[in-house]
Amino acid sequence: MSQADLFASDLPPEPDRESGLKRVEAFAASMGRAYASKRNFDFGPQDRSNISCLSPHIRHRLVLESELAQAALSAHGSEGAEKFIQEVCWRTYWKGWLEMRPSVWSDYKAELADALNVLAEDGVLRQRYATAIEGRTGIACFDAWTAELIETGYLHNHARMWFASIWIFTLDLPWVLGADFFLRHLMDGDPASNTLGWRWVGGLQTVGKTYLARASNIEKFTEGRFAPDPQSLASSAPPLPVHRPAPEPSAIVPGDRWTEGRPAVLWLHEDDLHPESWGLGAADIRCVVFRPDPVSRGASKPGEVAWRFATQALEDGAQRASNLWGVQALACQDASDMIAAAHQNGATHVVTQRPFQGPVADHAQPVQEALEASGLRVARLTRDWDQAFHPYATKGFFKFKTAIPDVFERLGLS
Ligand SMILES: Cc1cc2nc3c(=O)[nH]c(=O)nc-3n(C[C@H](O)[C@H](O)[C@H](O)COP(=O)(O)OP(=O)(O)OC[C@H]3O[C@@H](n4cnc5c(N)ncnc54)[C@H](O)[C@@H]3O)c2cc1C
Repeated sequence: MSQADLFASDLPPEPDRESGLKRVEAFAASMGRAYASKRNFDFGPQDRSNISCLSPHIRHRLVLESELAQAALSAHGSEGAEKFIQEVCWRTYWKGWLEMRPSVWSDYKAELADALNVLAEDGVLRQRYATAIEGRTGIACFDAWTAELIETGYLHNHARMWFASIWIFTLDLPWVLGADFFLRHLMDGDPASNTLGWRWVGGLQTVGKTYLARASNIEKFTEGRFAPDPQSLASSAPPLPVHRPAPEPSAIVPGDRWTEGRPAVLWLHEDDLHPESWGLGAADIRCVVFRPDPVSRGASKPGEVAWRFATQALEDGAQRASNLWGVQALACQDASDMIAAAHQNGATHVVTQRPFQGPVADHAQPVQEALEASGLRVARLTRDWDQAFHPYATKGFFKFKTAIPDVFERLGLS
């Protein structure tokens, strides 16, 4: 079996931590110079040997960014691992950038709601949109990526860039509808990486700088799997109009302190499914609560593959927490189920990870308010990784990445 077959047979890895860690181990040897030179090639869904495909695990924190970074450093040293680590840190940069500018997420939601209203009124637009999301545009590469996204819940980074560019500049569709389509179907669907990735392609993120998908670039980096007619793609990419400039960054909200000894419910959500590393030590955890269905990521039905991944990832996290603290894991539909679970188990506190800006935080906010109104004290923790990195996401990635060596030293990564 070739290395490519070996990787293809296990992709995506199962939605649990153990499979994610196996993939980290298997891919560690490829996180060095091979990654730097080959990562931009999209060899197709049958051969993902040049990239880790761990984004669904990282997105749900079944596997941690620090674990990926440490694996790369151990295998290749800081120079050899530089490119891979920078890519891991792109995610952290996007997360920090959005944490400091929450209105960019609310603006996205408002613009999406507007676009959906227009879609409901405008039959011609509706037809063009349907043609795109059903993979019937006649642009072979785009239609293939649509099918791949729906069937596998994953697209290569370069394909995401080409897809978003064709969506915006060739098909002339509203960018927010494309971002929503991705967010619902990607197993790694993430409010920061996705929204800001689409904004970047459209010229809203680095204002005025857009990304144009070129036929020659697609042919080169798919090794000829696709060779679109240049005439079928837009020849220019004028920046989208900026309705509201991104605000100045606000301060990062620090995590709450956790005092051991309080009888607590551990509340798990899909932004962080590794409670073993929350620093809870010998906490008095009385039970684990989690929502059996992942929160909705968009305006309509979630993609089946993404939904299944998140559902099983939640179950995996709950099972591990239940085993670690020797308590029950209870699937709770809403705040009243969680309050009942706390009372039945004699808990006075709830401990959770502070969710990131996005659908999980939108859902968690009223739940937290209901828990607090019932008299429970809620502690929202923040990981050292986020606390150390996010304040650097004030400007562009270039400035951010210069902080990586210092932050790694502070975090003890070597
Ligand atoms: C329009 C658009 C939408 C995107 N939407 C998402 C999304 O919803 N969720 C998501 O996780 N990523 C998103 N990305 C970023 C990137 O495409 C994926 O993270 C990457 O393709 C995941 O594949 P991998 O795990 O094999 O990455 P690898 O190349 O193996 O990289 C390792 C890890 O680094 C991180 N990473 C790598 N490249 C990027 C990047 N450019 N931006 C942010 N993080 C990165 C991921 O966590 C990834 O798992 C988007 C990019 C674009 C252009």
